[in-house]
Amino acid sequence: MKYLGALLTMCLGLAALSCGGNRTANAAAEGTPTELKARLMGDFRADSAYAHIERQVSFGPRVPGSEGHHACRNYIINTLERYAADTVIVQDAEVTAFNGDRLPITNIMASYNPDTQRRILLLAHWDTRPWADLENTRELREKPILGANDGGSGVGVLLEIARNFQLIDPEIGVDLLFVDAEDYGNSTGFVENTESWCLGTQYWTEHMPYKEGKLLPAYGVLLDMVGGKDARFHQEMFSIQNAPNVTNKIWAEAAILGYDDVFIPSQGGAVTDDHIFLHKAGIPTVDVIETVNEHTGTFPPTWHTHADNMDNIDKHSLEAVGRTILNVVYKEKNS
Ligand SMILES: [Zn+2]
Repeated sequence: MKYLGALLTMCLGLAALSCGGNRTANAAAEGTPTELKARLMGDFRADSAYAHIERQVSFGPRVPGSEGHHACRNYIINTLERYAADTVIVQDAEVTAFNGDRLPITNIMASYNPDTQRRILLLAHWDTRPWADLENTRELREKPILGANDGGSGVGVLLEIARNFQLIDPEIGVDLLFVDAEDYGNSTGFVENTESWCLGTQYWTEHMPYKEGKLLPAYGVLLDMVGGKDARFHQEMFSIQNAPNVTNKIWAEAAILGYDDVFIPSQGGAVTDDHIFLHKAGIPTVDVIETVNEHTGTFPPTWHTHADNMDNIDKHSLEAVGRTILNVVYKEKNS
């Protein structure tokens, strides 16, 4: 993904203003462990999401065409089948990257209640970046990153959500989509190069596996870099523009669960990511992504570096995201 910009002054002002309010809401939402448990729907376990990330990282970088990529593809498919998804669609294809590289890609979609008209889409990219653009030396920049957070984290949370669906069926239809080749884009120059990113999602929107006459998902939620240390998720700019109600719903649910130290209800940066292409295809989508990191003011400090490894994965961030999204899904009614 690529950072496009931010209204930082306005943002910081809002964050400062909302500080006092957050503490009050937090105290109100925390309650006793029994009370929190009563508000939680499902049984999202951060340990399990973490283990799924560890497993992906153990395959090495998941650059399209690499050995690690192939192993991870099979791991995601096998895990979804083990958690008894109703259907698992495997979409193998070949796309061309901005530099001419031919990439063998695989998009994977697991569906729950596939015949239910009202449905939502949860997605994450599972590939990892072939370069470490933000490293200081050319030698380090040319090596692929491990992508524990950037790639691994969203997948880890979605797989743990899949385990929950095996235990408690959601009332609506849900599609879990794992898209490939998000992170093979062109980060050089002053042009945005938007189309060079998210190749898997672009392919998917051109070949969406929804039957003729069937409604598209009402909305999508993209999880990208959701496992960073002390992560804070501001509301990404295109998400507010394209899916304001869903954005509000997610941040409100986080506050109910006491995660308003993680989900900050003010505007963050604007990002080129998979949600842009889904919106164009008719599925308004929210990107849960860290764009106002407290150290960098933008993405987390490990972004596109070799520090994007298991040492920098935070179970509290995974828990906040997983539990919030699971609650949002389980509260959706089929009417
Ligand atoms: Zn990335």
